[in-house]
This record gives sequence, C-alpha cells and structure tokens, in this order.
Amino acid sequence: MNASEIRSRFLAFFEKNGHAIRPSSSLVPADDPTLLFTNAGMVQFKKVFLGMEEAPDGKRRATTSQKCVRAGGKHNDLEQVGHTARHHTFFEMLGNFSFGDYFKRDAIKFAWEFITEDLKIPREHLRVTVFHEDDEARQLWKDVADVPENRIYGLGAKDNFWQMADTGPCGPCTEIYVDLAKLAADWAFPADATGEWTNTEIEDYSLDAFVEGAEAGRFLEIWNLVFMQFDRQADGTLVPLPKPSVDTGAGLERIAAVMQGVTNNFHTDLFRPLIAKVEDVVGIGYPYRPGVGLGKAYAKDGQEIDPASFRVLADHARAVGFLLADGVFPSNEGRGYVLRRILRRAVRHAWLLGRREPTLVHVVEVLIDTMRDLYPELHVRRKHILETTRAEEDRFLTTIDAGMSRFEELAPAASTQGSTTMRGTLSGEDAFRLYDTFGFPIDLTDLMARERGYLVDIAGFERSLQAQRKQSQEDRKSRQITVSADDFADPTHWTHDQQHQAALGRFVGYET
Ligand code: ATP
Ligand code: MG
Ligand code: MG
Ligand code: MG
Repeated sequence: MNASEIRSRFLAFFEKNGHAIRPSSSLVPADDPTLLFTNAGMVQFKKVFLGMEEAPDGKRRATTSQKCVRAGGKHNDLEQVGHTARHHTFFEMLGNFSFGDYFKRDAIKFAWEFITEDLKIPREHLRVTVFHEDDEARQLWKDVADVPENRIYGLGAKDNFWQMADTGPCGPCTEIYVDLAKLAADWAFPADATGEWTNTEIEDYSLDAFVEGAEAGRFLEIWNLVFMQFDRQADGTLVPLPKPSVDTGAGLERIAAVMQGVTNNFHTDLFRPLIAKVEDVVGIGYPYRPGVGLGKAYAKDGQEIDPASFRVLADHARAVGFLLADGVFPSNEGRGYVLRRILRRAVRHAWLLGRREPTLVHVVEVLIDTMRDLYPELHVRRKHILETTRAEEDRFLTTIDAGMSRFEELAPAASTQGSTTMRGTLSGEDAFRLYDTFGFPIDLTDLMARERGYLVDIAGFERSLQAQRKQSQEDRKSRQITVSADDFADPTHWTHDQQHQAALGRFVGYET
C-alpha cells in the first residue's frame, strides 16, 4: 500500500467517524514565537485546546495530515536522521482530534479499528504502552481492543505523560507499537533489517525486553494518543478539565514502512524516488535492493562510504523544499539558521559522496514533482525553492573544500580505525574560524569532530561568536544600517525583484 493511499484512508476513516478533514497548517506556526516549527498535528489547534478559541466551524472532531519539522527547539531529531530507520527532519503526522468531545474510549477504539481492520496489521503483532498510573487506559485496551495484559506496558512520565508547558493542559498518553520482528516473519519482509533486533528473544514479553527492543528498533512506535485531562496549576496540582480532549499523532512514513514490508522508512515509496535521484546525480548506487537488503557502498575510487549519506540527502531535500515553500529563508538566525544548517549538512553529505557541485537542488526538484499535487505550495514556489537551494549550495561549496582541509589539520583522522578513546579537543577559536571563514555551522563541526574522536569547546565557540556579534552590532550602529540578515518576513510578501535578489543571496531581508 503506497503512502498516498495510507494518507487518504486515514482521513477517510476519521471523516466517516464524524471528523472534519482540515488542511495541514504551515511549518511556521501562526503567531507562536515560542515554537520554532510546527512539530505536531495539534499545533494549529493549540488555542482551541486551551479554550481560547472555538473549534473551527464549531465542529468538535477534526483530522489532518500535518507537515512537521523536528530539527530544532524542544523536539530535535536532526542528529538521528539517516542513522535510525524511523526519524526524519520533515515528516507527515496523521492525526485525529477531539475538542472536548469523545475521550479515551473512542480514541482507543478508533485507532485500533483503523490499524487492525482498515490496514489489517495483525493484532498479535502490536504492543501498547500506557502511563503507569492510567489504569483507565490500561483497562480500555483490554475491554475495547482485547489486547492481552502482557502486551500492555506501563511507563513513566518521561515517555507517557504529555504537557504543553509547565502549567496548563496536560495528561497521560498511550502509544501503539508494531513488533517488526514478528511482522517480518509473518509478512516475509525483504531482509533489510539493520540486524540488531533479529536476535531478540521473540517470545519474551517482559518490560525489559520491550524497552530494549524499542531501542534497537524492533518495536516501532507508530501512534501516540494524548489524553488532555488536567489543567496543571502553578503550584503543580492537577485540576481535572471540565471537557477533556484528545490529540493523536501517527507517523505516515513509519506506517508506510510497515505496510510496505520494509524495516526502514527510507526504503518506502516516499523516499525511493529521492534516493534514486541522489544515485543518479552522484553516480554511485545506494546499496539497497528489495528482497535482498542493505549492502555496502563504495565511492568511485573504491573507498567504502557510509550509505547514510544517501538517506540524509533524501531527508534534507524534503525539509529544505517544504521550509522554503512555507517562507523560511536561509539566514544566520532563528528558523533561517536551522534551514541553513540543514542545507549545509546536505552539502557535506554530497561532498562525502564525491560531489563538488550543487546536488540537493536536483533532489528537491524530484520532491516538488512527486508531492506537488498534495502540497501545491511546492509548485507555486518552485522557482524560488530551486534557485535558493542552488544558491545556498553554491555558496557553501566555495568554502567547503578549504574548510575540510583546515578541519583535517585540526582533527586528523586516526591512523588506526575503530579507536573509541577521545583523541583531543578543538578549541573554541578554531571552531569559530571554521564557522566564520568557511561557513561550518557549529553542530556540523561538532558532529565531524565526534566522528573522529574529538571534542569541541562549544562554550569557547559561543564566546567567540558573542564577541563577534557585539562587534558587528557596534559597527552597524555606527554605519546606521537598518537591514539585517535575521530571521525575517515571509517572502510571499516580497516584490519579484526582492525574491530574485534573495534567491541570488543579495537581498538580506528587512529588519522587522
Ligand atoms: P520517537 O520516540 O520514535 O522519537 P516520539 O515519541 O518522539 O517518537 P511523538 O512525539 O509521540 O514521537 O509523535 C507522534 C508520532 O509521530 C510518533 O509516534 C511517530 O510515528 C511520529 N514521529 C515522531 N517523530 C518523528 C520523526 N522525527 N520522523 C518521523 N516520524 C516521527
Ligand atoms: Mg522523538
Ligand atoms: Mg517515543
Ligand atoms: Mg511518542
């Protein structure tokens, strides 16, 4: 079952059950400066949940497929991308919402029915977690879904208690997991597992085995059902909400992996055309073959290379395309800087694959072509997206070679492989010079250093950065310049010329 079918089935299922289908909101949250990016389906309904706004059209049930980015702020999965089978910077979260309408029983009933009857995932291959104090949810899983006691796990607040902020709406959540080991055996998945969990004792239902298996990727979290049940007071007490609500989120890419019989999201139809484009552009094959599995990849000179670079490029093309479509523009601060960091990581991965020319732009083009029907903003902004991506790639490519050589000097690769001891520390000044002269974002330097067994003096880097910021502020004041490159307004409001200048990296944006 391809991803579009899953998406439409989900929305249709909830529509049939009285939910209004709502469009995804922008990745840039509407008037919410506390949040970097929309990172969950509930974001656009935050004020409704808080009781500050009426439910849209007075309808108390809604369903969406929401564009999400988790690459900064509270939820930051950037480091995981390419290295786990289930994390992306950009992903689509399927959700259903009850604004003071139904509560735990129906939320559980709907989710279970969709997964086991509509998608037909065998119920015996599912596990659920509940907040350990939420006896009501535990009982409902048994009553409504017939889940055996030994497949229900009680977890603590860190995993299964949700809150919007230190005060305000909060409540327990319950999550649904798929046992990929069992499903793979049952559905004869292609042998593309990373392998770790295949050794896990298959009939061990203990909590320890579950937690370990979840870490290893055998148990895949697909859906989180949040029960907004309390209003937390400043003194910490929990006052029951008069009209409790439901907010759920299920990862489309993860469900697609399950439904397509692969154990890695990057091997689904959502990513295959993107990875194929990377292969095409870099002229190296991604070593995955359905039914065979993941092998080793080699550069043109015969050196072994990490296939994660292909996955990172495919992932980052999506984040870059969608962020640009929603008006985020590469800059040195805030949202724009997150975008720039993602772009530069992509350039580095293409560089690792041997490319010295813009690469991501070609992958972004495939993204636009494959998703434009669902997300017309990609099509509307096509030219802007491609020009900006190319300009950013070009810009970093002018310094990456020199920067990489400088990095080589600072953190030479170990002569013997596999050493895990820390081999030294890069000074804050050196890290700052890599940033200032060669455009290496600090997280990129830090990542590269750690790969080689070096630490980076981040605090020292911050000091150098602050000193430079202060200096340039003073310079700016003395020159009375009112334009800055800060995170800024939505380029939809720009004139054509401004958009064009921006794409070429000349127009740096308004001060406010
Ligand atoms: P994980 O523990 O795997 O990091 P999470 O508990 O952080 O996931 P939630 O905040 O519960 O995720 O989000 C709801 C759902 O969104 C998850 O169950 C998952 O299906 C999906 N999801 C979350 N983060 C990502 C991501 N980075 N990439 C793809 N899907 C994601
Ligand atoms: Mg997470
Ligand atoms: Mg989780
Ligand atoms: Mg979760």
